[in-house]
Amino acid sequence: MRREHLLANGKRLILLEGDITRVPVDAIANAANSALVGGGGVDGAIHRAGGPAIMAELDRMRAAVAPLAAGQAVATSAGNLPARFVFHAVGPIWHGGGRGEAEALASCYRVCLDLAEQKGLRSISLPSISTGIYAYPIDAAAQIAIGQILDFLDRRAISVAEVWMVLFGASAFTAYEAALKTATAR
Ligand code: ADP
Repeated sequence: MRREHLLANGKRLILLEGDITRVPVDAIANAANSALVGGGGVDGAIHRAGGPAIMAELDRMRAAVAPLAAGQAVATSAGNLPARFVFHAVGPIWHGGGRGEAEALASCYRVCLDLAEQKGLRSISLPSISTGIYAYPIDAAAQIAIGQILDFLDRRAISVAEVWMVLFGASAFTAYEAALKTATAR
């Protein structure tokens, strides 16, 4: 499944049901953990498909940057992935919503999009951060992600022309499609 939203300024948000390691873009965002040691879910898929070069790079920077706070991200090269960079963002663990989860999740998207802009990239893909092992309720997470992406793309004079939100499975896709519909109906 796929759904595209074209903004008035020509920029595009594409919702795609699929595997983020298979979509060619300039940068792929990863849902990492604060220790930057790799894990399951999308993190595991990215390291498997990207090969050991990505973890080797994280190994070299870990002492300087880890533990990374929720809402922050670091960039590495992308190994064998069809991309130039991976942005490793640390999503918040869901504790019920009273511990700054929404702000940290919004920050993940903002920081990754800003990194793409700082590097002058044209396209970036993002997974549904925190909605797997970290248990963030997906409808609320989708609203935050879509809101941040649309705000970002609305700005003028940015290099990023295409943002791919890559959703794993039909139910995730449906949640993001509903959030996009609500956000663009306003
Ligand atoms: P977190 O710990 O931030 O919750 P997870 O990796 O457990 O991270 O889950 C985040 C989201 O990534 C979930 O919606 C999960 O279904 C999804 N996901 C898992 N594998 C992939 C993949 N290969 N491509 C895109 N999304 C994926």
